[in-house]
Amino acid sequence: MDTAKLLEPFKDNNKRITVLTGAGISAESGIPTFRGPEGYWTVGSREYRPEEMATHSMFTQNPWEVWAWYLYRHTVCKNAKPNSGHHAIARMEELFKDRFCLITQNVDGLHLRAGNSLERTFQIHGNINYTRCAGECTPRLFEFPEGIVDKKKDQPVTEEEKKLLTCPRCGSLARPHILWFDECYNETWYKAESAMGWATSTDLLLVVGTAGATNLPMQIGMMVARNPEAVIVDINLSDNPFRQFAAGHDRGIVLDGPGGKFLPELLSLWEP
Ligand SMILES: [Zn+2]
Repeated sequence: MDTAKLLEPFKDNNKRITVLTGAGISAESGIPTFRGPEGYWTVGSREYRPEEMATHSMFTQNPWEVWAWYLYRHTVCKNAKPNSGHHAIARMEELFKDRFCLITQNVDGLHLRAGNSLERTFQIHGNINYTRCAGECTPRLFEFPEGIVDKKKDQPVTEEEKKLLTCPRCGSLARPHILWFDECYNETWYKAESAMGWATSTDLLLVVGTAGATNLPMQIGMMVARNPEAVIVDINLSDNPFRQFAAGHDRGIVLDGPGGKFLPELLSLWEP
């Protein structure tokens, strides 16, 4: 079956649509995945990999190095702009309303800036534009503090900035609102159960720019792939497990290329 035939019916049926995004869509906005050399960080005489920096254990030992790394990343994200793929996904939410849900692994906040609502966006790895109390005095999120200037790579946190990076409620250290490698998904901060619950009954899964390296997205992909009635679409520059799910499914679609190209094309099938 061709793409239009599989996807056009969603225009006015009552079925559920889930978009799942990963680093690939943000790379098109110039945000590196940070798994490569851009994410390496020198502390003293040692160079650390992102998988070592983005951990609770590193934050406990070396909070200001971890914060310096995140302030640099925050600067990169802040200066990036949503691309045509992000805008197409925001438009999908407008069209499909409560039939639509976005699950993103990206912490850059670009989907929200493009116009997706917080209510219908599960940011399962957090959002770099928020902080929370490292002492967990409250589950509340706090907006990224004003007064922190743009950072270059390896630029340290100043004493003034350290004062800003504290919990406004109890005064203890604040942390980035990010799921670290040595932490688990949960509902309170990462809406993991909500995301999984929604995806359980989705009729269309549209996967964009993710390599499938993380656990929750893989579970969602496997679950939808087992449903013979669902439609599964993979948009990516390279092979990945979601592509295998789509390729092996009767109602699967593989689109080899960037989200910025294919998402507006798919959207045009649904525009009134
Ligand atoms: Zn606190």
